Amino acid sequence: MSGREMKYIQEAFDSNWIAHIGPNIDAFEAELCQYTGSKYALAVSSGTAAIHLALLAMGIGKGDIVLCQSLTFVATANPIMYVGATPVFIDSEATTWNMCPNALEDAILHYLQMGQKPKAVIVMHLYGMPAMLDEILYLCRKYGIPLIEDAAEALGSEYKGRKVGTFGDIGIFSFNGNKIITTSGGGALLSDNAGLVEKARFLATQAREPVAHYEHSAVGYNYRMSNVCAGIGRGQLEVVGERVWMRRGNFQFYQISLHKNPGIDFQDGAIDMFSNRWLTALTIAGECPSLVHNALLANGIESRPVWKPMHCQQIYKTLPRFGGSVSERLFHQGLCLPSGSNLSDDDRKLIASIVDDCFKT
Ligand SMILES: *Cc1c(COP(=O)(O)O)cnc(C)c1O
Repeated sequence: MSGREMKYIQEAFDSNWIAHIGPNIDAFEAELCQYTGSKYALAVSSGTAAIHLALLAMGIGKGDIVLCQSLTFVATANPIMYVGATPVFIDSEATTWNMCPNALEDAILHYLQMGQKPKAVIVMHLYGMPAMLDEILYLCRKYGIPLIEDAAEALGSEYKGRKVGTFGDIGIFSFNGNKIITTSGGGALLSDNAGLVEKARFLATQAREPVAHYEHSAVGYNYRMSNVCAGIGRGQLEVVGERVWMRRGNFQFYQISLHKNPGIDFQDGAIDMFSNRWLTALTIAGECPSLVHNALLANGIESRPVWKPMHCQQIYKTLPRFGGSVSERLFHQGLCLPSGSNLSDDDRKLIASIVDDCFKT
């Protein structure tokens, strides 16, 4: 927490706006628009709910195909199942570790040939690193397929000077406790398309028609953010810029300290990509990241493997996929180092020296 959250929480209590309507929600949505440059925003109860609403607002349902980045957290893919559509998984390219445009086009052409045009593409910005958005947007426009940007990990990241989450037809963010800023739990859906955001807002509010009696013409959801949580979000949004620089500082420190070790490669971007470096991720050749993981653990320090690709998961491994095995290699060789915004210089030095020692032995 930044210390600025209590003011907005207090306002919520003082004005008795505690539930799913209130001034903090309206202000948080407006401030998200201001920060990202999006025209419209909808604050919801989680990033997962935001992806679910994005699919529903686009009218995606039973039997539809959705092309989804394989190297991601499971919450990117699960909402495709909620609506009864089929996720088809797309492998990564080796630079940003995100959706490979070549594999995406192969998938699109395959389904077009079968007469089944995919209904959406969901791209993700892994650990804050922007995907190859120019190439992916070009394909989406060429074939007329809407793009959903799962920017859950990437608040504050930029592509060609513009905030990610604003490139797709819909973008989503997460404010879960582990993300770069948090509302305790929450998410947001962003779009420049007023119709899509209004449809999502309607479905997130039990699909209640704007009449006094309780009239429902669709099955809705209870997905709104509370005015108390939005207060936390307002306090957090004031410091998101600082948080991004702290995370980038962690990355820079690790890169300078560790890059000379043979076989280490950091997740990289292109010159026009600005990553919030939510997590510092690297690969170690030879599938030995578990040695480093265990050495850190022996010192009471937590690290994490890279997300296990969706096409390797029990629940999804029988579904179609396109591309090679880049995401599998990243999973086997990848490691996320401690990346909290509150890491001290001493913390980072200790971590780097433990990793260094692994290479010496
Ligand atoms: C965290 C995360 C989500 C889900 O957000 P919640 O707010 O936890 O529901 C979705 N996609 C990705 C890539 C995430 O990292």
